[in-house]
Amino acid sequence: MTLRIAEIFGPTIQGEGALIGEPTVFIRAGGCDYRCSWCDSLHAVDGAYRQDWARMIAAEAWQEVRHLSGGEPLTVSLSGGNPAIQDFAPVIALGKAEGYRFACETQGSIARSWFSSLDTLVLSPKPPSSGEQVDWVAFDACIKAAEGCPKVVLKVVIFDDVDYAWARAVAERYPELPLYLQPGNPDVDPDHPVDLGACTDRLLWLVEKVTSDRWFSPRVLPQLHVLIWGNKRGV
Ligand code: SF4
Repeated sequence: MTLRIAEIFGPTIQGEGALIGEPTVFIRAGGCDYRCSWCDSLHAVDGAYRQDWARMIAAEAWQEVRHLSGGEPLTVSLSGGNPAIQDFAPVIALGKAEGYRFACETQGSIARSWFSSLDTLVLSPKPPSSGEQVDWVAFDACIKAAEGCPKVVLKVVIFDDVDYAWARAVAERYPELPLYLQPGNPDVDPDHPVDLGACTDRLLWLVEKVTSDRWFSPRVLPQLHVLIWGNKRGV
């Protein structure tokens, strides 16, 4: 069975969420069952880019990770697109045998048995501004499938007050899961420089929201890679 791979890149640092700053090699899977209005990874989602995706068996994908990491057992992040569309169990098995750690970020629409083999599962339910609707039955199935994974966390991207209220409801629904919030980035054109002042303003807005509401359980983080590299791909 082959995997559809949009890109494998690194080592770089994880730019967001629970593992922010962690040295990481990324495997970006091609294909997604969502079409979020503000998707910043369209090259791994839109069928128009399909001809750019590689077809690899697990051993080939793994060979590329080993090459990039120089054999150093770093964290490997499975991202996308939605990596849960595909079977990454063989890649995880190859990496685990060599001491690598695995993280995966998915919107939580498809449960996979290999979630239990991960070191970190980031479930990122998409808020109303995405234009998508979360299937909470499928989302709960993802949490159940991750039993055995030591770190399951939530990450919610927030663009506006409606998203913010929605994030609060999500936090109430899953009080046992650590929650990471990040301001949304509407400026996703890879060929267009990011307005760093606007990024800071959005972060400030979100920080002021949680502090004025005395909502102290989530952690508020920027997208570090956007601050450093803008929307450049493969970094
Ligand atoms: S779930 Fe993620 S990759 Fe898929 S369309 Fe939404 S933002 Fe893009």
